Amino acid sequence: MAEYVFPPPPVPAAAVRGGGLYPVRRIFCVGRNYAEHAREMGGDDREPPFFFTKPAAALTPSGAAIAYPPGTENFHYEMELVLALGASAHKIAAEDAQAAIYGYACGLDMTRRDLQAALREKKQPWDLAKAFEESAVLGEIAPASAIGHPRRAAITLAVNGKTRQRADIADMIWSAPEIVAALSLYYHLGPGDLIFTGTPAGVGPVVRGDRLDGVIEGLGAVAATIR
Ligand code: MN
Repeated sequence: MAEYVFPPPPVPAAAVRGGGLYPVRRIFCVGRNYAEHAREMGGDDREPPFFFTKPAAALTPSGAAIAYPPGTENFHYEMELVLALGASAHKIAAEDAQAAIYGYACGLDMTRRDLQAALREKKQPWDLAKAFEESAVLGEIAPASAIGHPRRAAITLAVNGKTRQRADIADMIWSAPEIVAALSLYYHLGPGDLIFTGTPAGVGPVVRGDRLDGVIEGLGAVAATIR
């Protein structure tokens, strides 16, 4: 058998509440999924959701000190509910999608907002704005076997102890099962696939030294500092 020409990178993985590691294969993200945030981004709250991706290598554990990334002067937080899939899902109905969800976590979809605006203006892909190192901060995954499938829970984000985002996951335009069903029309989803489900209103910039604390009540938390 041929040998690797350099050691393969470690498998990105997330901590699971109660023990164990969830190996991450892919990271999908939903664009607009809260009406108030869609409006603050200059959109229409009735637009269907759209998807983009981050590399699995962008995964960063909660509690990390993440570097202010190069190429931006407007680095933003986006607090989100994250779905962790545990079973195959392809062209499935929303009624069947819940069974594919292994667990839930809190995540930060870190964004170079200035680049996102410029790329959107030029109708270019969002990779430089969304898919960079340390851009997917993830808290512990709470298995659905332990917490069930929450459909209603306060979601908040504080910067240096001051609340900047406050909503309820029940306010999502597309629910967790609807998101899985919609994405499954385009992919053979399966274990190891994470889905960031979109952020509520109140996104904003961070500077070096800031501390981010996100919570979804009864579900989990995520934190990061900017260095
Ligand atoms: Mn987002």
